[in-house]
Amino acid sequence: MTNGPTLNPFEISQRQLDKAAEKLSLDPQVHALLREPMRTLQVQFPVKMDDGTTKVFTGFRVQYNDARGPTKGGIRFHPEETIDTVKALAAWMTWKCAVVDIPYGGGKGGVICNPKELSTSELERLARGYIRAIGRFIGPARDIPAPDVYTTPQIMAWMMDEYSKLVGYNTPGVITGKPIPLGGSLGRGDATARGAVYTILEAAKVIGLDLKNATVAIQGYGNAGYFAAKLMREIAGSKVVAVSDSRGGAYSPDGIDPEAAFEQKRSTGSVAGLAGTKPISNAELLELDVDVLIPAAIENVITEKNAESVKAKIIAEAANGPTTPEADEILYRNGKYLIPDFLCNAGGVTVSYFEWVQNIGGYYWSLEEVHERLRAKMTKAFHDVHEMAQQNDVDNRTAAYMVSVQRVAEAMRLRGWV
Ligand code: NAD
Repeated sequence: MTNGPTLNPFEISQRQLDKAAEKLSLDPQVHALLREPMRTLQVQFPVKMDDGTTKVFTGFRVQYNDARGPTKGGIRFHPEETIDTVKALAAWMTWKCAVVDIPYGGGKGGVICNPKELSTSELERLARGYIRAIGRFIGPARDIPAPDVYTTPQIMAWMMDEYSKLVGYNTPGVITGKPIPLGGSLGRGDATARGAVYTILEAAKVIGLDLKNATVAIQGYGNAGYFAAKLMREIAGSKVVAVSDSRGGAYSPDGIDPEAAFEQKRSTGSVAGLAGTKPISNAELLELDVDVLIPAAIENVITEKNAESVKAKIIAEAANGPTTPEADEILYRNGKYLIPDFLCNAGGVTVSYFEWVQNIGGYYWSLEEVHERLRAKMTKAFHDVHEMAQQNDVDNRTAAYMVSVQRVAEAMRLRGWV
């Protein structure tokens, strides 16, 4: 999921598929079907603005492949949204849902807009207008959106309400990431980081690393990074020695209290400057002599320039696309254990799936049940990928693609599509 200088994200996603297809000797027809989305929808819809004028917005919804079940994927509100980004993200959702073996295909949607320039009531009318425009194409058994860049639980609530009005009955299962009183699941908040930590527990067993005596560095201190720090300490008993955000980082060989770092970021805007720590740059953090490195910020931070200097034994990609393909090869050659992004950060979509299951069943689970089921899913997915890598002597990212592509291809074959 990395971005090259000349390729657009969709071409990158196609290349990744091509590599897995070659390793799997995939049937050319199956490969051809998987190279493009099955359905791509573009909509234009009007929104009444607060000043009485009407603006026309462009939205997209891509249903990449639904052989394994209804498509699933977030909705982004972004001024630079493009159809190619949405197509690439829908492809990656297909592989992510398949690798954790949840019964979904992949989808994604977006509206070209700048939410920062919209009032709350304009945002609500935009959200409702988009759902009216795509309403006939989505549904709990067809395509289930979720929050993504600049979309929130409140926006999911408006969207669910609009869809329910369209069909004439309450339909919480049409969308996930809703507020808890409207059918959101317990445990969604930290699900991505928790899922990542569950895969780190397994990776440590595989390479014989004692996490209780392990050190951890985390780049990014938002939803994924903060909860990763908290849970690496709580669940794995490890020592977090470095954390960072876009403004800088904090390092302490004696360990950092994740709550203190959170409070520092809340009160000053950055983890940098936390009492009892030394400053550290984002570049230095990636090269620290730690056991576990968790990139949890942005893409393309481990490149051919710094990959040789990465010392961590386990690299757990909570972020999407933190490692470039060139860096991948270097890390693999150096014997690093990489947990690839669409496996490592699949905890979020897995708990979204749990939300949908609870909505459809009308019966809600305890937090403990959510955690237990998430752990089972992540652990199984980890070992499916690990075994594929061992059996085929390939890196974990290629193995994850192989697991996913094979599952989607098998579903298409069983349906008699190819
Ligand atoms: P967030 O916005 O909550 O936090 C992002 C953090 O990264 C912030 O602390 C920010 O300061 C930091 N950051 C930004 N630019 C940086 C830079 N150049 N160097 C260092 N730090 C920088 O976002 P999030 O939800 O935690 O997502 C982080 C990553 O995890 C993204 O790649 C996202 O796609 C991925 N992810 C998140 C979820 C989820 O459920 N939150 C699910 C799947 C994948």
